[in-house]
Amino acid sequence: RVKARGGNTFEIFDHAMEGRLRDRLKVEDGIRRAIAKDELRLVYQPIVELDPFRTVAVEALVRWQHPEEGLLGPARFLPVAEQDAQLISGIGRWVLHRACIEARRFPDDIRVSVNVAARELSDPDLEDRILGTLEATGTPPERIGLEITETTLMEGGDAGIDPLVRLADAGLYISLDDFGTGYSSLTRLATLPLNGIKLDRGFVARYTGERDRRIIEAAVSIGRAAELNVVAEGVETEDQLELLRAAGCGFVQGYLLGRPQPPEQMIAALGAAVAT
Ligand code: C2E
Ligand code: MG
Ligand code: MG
Ligand code: MG
Repeated sequence: RVKARGGNTFEIFDHAMEGRLRDRLKVEDGIRRAIAKDELRLVYQPIVELDPFRTVAVEALVRWQHPEEGLLGPARFLPVAEQDAQLISGIGRWVLHRACIEARRFPDDIRVSVNVAARELSDPDLEDRILGTLEATGTPPERIGLEITETTLMEGGDAGIDPLVRLADAGLYISLDDFGTGYSSLTRLATLPLNGIKLDRGFVARYTGERDRRIIEAAVSIGRAAELNVVAEGVETEDQLELLRAAGCGFVQGYLLGRPQPPEQMIAALGAAVAT
């Protein structure tokens, strides 16, 4: 076989490809088992309004409690899952269903925001699946938000927009995630069925001086011009918080305000906030 392909280089190349394929199949298999054996978890991170200062929502972030490797973040398994439409929609189903169940335990005025993968948005069943899950779990649509990345929405063309319009009409809150990392057409931004944008962590993380400050201000202004709520992601310091406040950013999220945490802790933290 090696000779037929004409030499060693090809043999190595072949083996590397086979190895990658095997790894991917192994991970895919592992994720299927993880869903079946209930090894996935959701952690929640607060999204905080600045004026008045209060938590208005929590973002659900998926984790895999792996039996051998411990708690894995999405970067360890979502990229593989996203290559398989069925697998990513399996995770999407699990996440939404769990988020709806856990949403009941949060105060009524706290929205639960769920991330939607690119591959899911092109799934013709997405709308029915989401509305069906809300109905089956008795969750009012207003309690749930969907986060769709800028790249996903802008590259998806208009076909992906119609279901989103109907989901927004049904009362779900729609956010454009990672704003500033893709190509947003500004004319399109105003016509998409959006309630808010989330400025990518990169805006805040890169902030060192006057020029970065003006860029953050400009990004916040774009969101506000389109009459959208603006959330800044990745806020880690008081200085960043003050900068965002001064820039007119209405909402913040990041380690300074709260780390992603299991539902019990998040609920306790919300309860404590109410009590003070
Ligand atoms: P994202 O939706 O933009 O989520 C924000 C990420 O930033 C989260 O990482 C969060 O833990 C992290 N983060 C929050 N505050 C800070 C901070 O102050 N500093 C720093 N350095 N990081 C902060 P995580 O949980 O690892 O998720 C990464 C990405 O994976 C998410 O980015 C989202 O795109 C995707 N993801 C997470 N959960 C799900 C899910 O259930 N379904 C889908 N389809 N994607 C998900
Ligand atoms: Mg998100
Ligand atoms: Mg984001
Ligand atoms: Mg991000």
